[in-house]
Amino acid sequence: MPVEKNISLKPYNTFGIDVKAKYLLNIDSTENLREALTDDYLKHQDRLILGGGSNILFTRDVDGLVLLNRISGIEIVRQDDQRVWVRAGAGETWHDLVMWSIEQGLGGMENLSLIPGSVGAGPMQNIGAYGVELKDSFYELEALQLDTMDIRKFSAADCKFGYRESVFKHELKNRFFIIHVTFCLSRNPQLNTSYGAIAQELQHMGITVPGVRDVSNAVINIRRSKLPDPKVLGNAGSFFKNPEVDQQVFDQLKAAHPNVVGYPTIPGKVKLAAGWLIEQCGWKGKVVGHTGSHKDQALVLVNYGEATGKEIYELALKIRDSVIEKFGVRIDPEVNVY
Ligand code: FAD
Ligand code: NAP
Repeated sequence: MPVEKNISLKPYNTFGIDVKAKYLLNIDSTENLREALTDDYLKHQDRLILGGGSNILFTRDVDGLVLLNRISGIEIVRQDDQRVWVRAGAGETWHDLVMWSIEQGLGGMENLSLIPGSVGAGPMQNIGAYGVELKDSFYELEALQLDTMDIRKFSAADCKFGYRESVFKHELKNRFFIIHVTFCLSRNPQLNTSYGAIAQELQHMGITVPGVRDVSNAVINIRRSKLPDPKVLGNAGSFFKNPEVDQQVFDQLKAAHPNVVGYPTIPGKVKLAAGWLIEQCGWKGKVVGHTGSHKDQALVLVNYGEATGKEIYELALKIRDSVIEKFGVRIDPEVNVY
């Protein structure tokens, strides 16, 4: 096993934070993973699983072993007249899988185009965008239990998917390495173009009867125009989740702040746009040392080049406190803080 030692993680996280890992190992198969977990020396090290590093903020060195997931492969495992089941290696790049599905004319993932990161991290927070979540096309996943090395299958119900949530962020945190994910895609998808600027972008593209590729292209165009490219400006997408509040709390906020942005979720609950709350507290575009809130999207915290993870985290805490002070609402990080 070619273990790298004392290596910078800067190329392995989209914030571009320069911390070090004591050991780093590429994992390209289940056998390779089992070997690493039973190695006489490595088995005593603390472990961190990393995919694309696009949803993590490093505030310290990793005094242990980074397992870099590179398990690849995309295969059709079952199909009928309507549906196609696709099993992907967890180390595949998410956007490559979406592009593969579009090449095959299959629908279900098009609204999730251009989300950075790996397939295996997708279920961790039930990635979502433009009114669609991973759970909508999820069939099952296989994960290796790190202490027993047994492989267990998880259905959608087992994963307990929620809004940017799953069982893997809570009771099963750090206990499983997701190795494969199977999706059920549609040959005749119902396109979701009602969210945000998709319909407007399709119109702008001159498309009246869109297909999956058109919706994907529209999402890609919108994302490119709005979001900072981590290759140019370090970031991990939305730093905070949108908070959900009781209808009663929303009504009180609306009375005090008539422009407050909220969307009903389940009866009696309203999701607030965290970006709006942060913007109202004056953070949008503000630069603090080597970090700041992005000028076009307040929810995205950025690294102007030399920021440490601690510096970014301190800014996040200040932002959180100011939102509590102004609105009485707590916003929690979506990004995994290490
Ligand atoms: P990593 O950052 O490598 O890991 C994230 C967490 O998952 C870590 O705790 C890690 O230990 C764990 N983990 C990773 N792989 C595995 C595995 N195989 N098994 C077990 N645990 C694992 N997210 C959205 O939901 N919607 C968006 O629209 C979106 N847009 C984004 C835009 C930008 C510009 C950026 C930078 C990020 C965006 N994100 C979005 C966040 C991010 O892309 C997703 O959360 C993505 O799924 C993270 O994948 P990753 O492989 O980079 O995960
Ligand atoms: P946007 O369209 O400007 O919308 C702002 C917020 O309002 C979003 O957070 C979104 O919630 C919510 N919203 C808008 N229209 C909605 C509707 N019809 N129903 C319910 N909620 C609605 O957001 P944006 O920043 O440009 O992002 C566009 C999409 O990409 C969003 O879905 C967003 O989640 C996703 N995205 C995610 C990340 C990340 O890192 N997690 C980064 C960039 C973009 P939702 O977030 O719940 O959709």
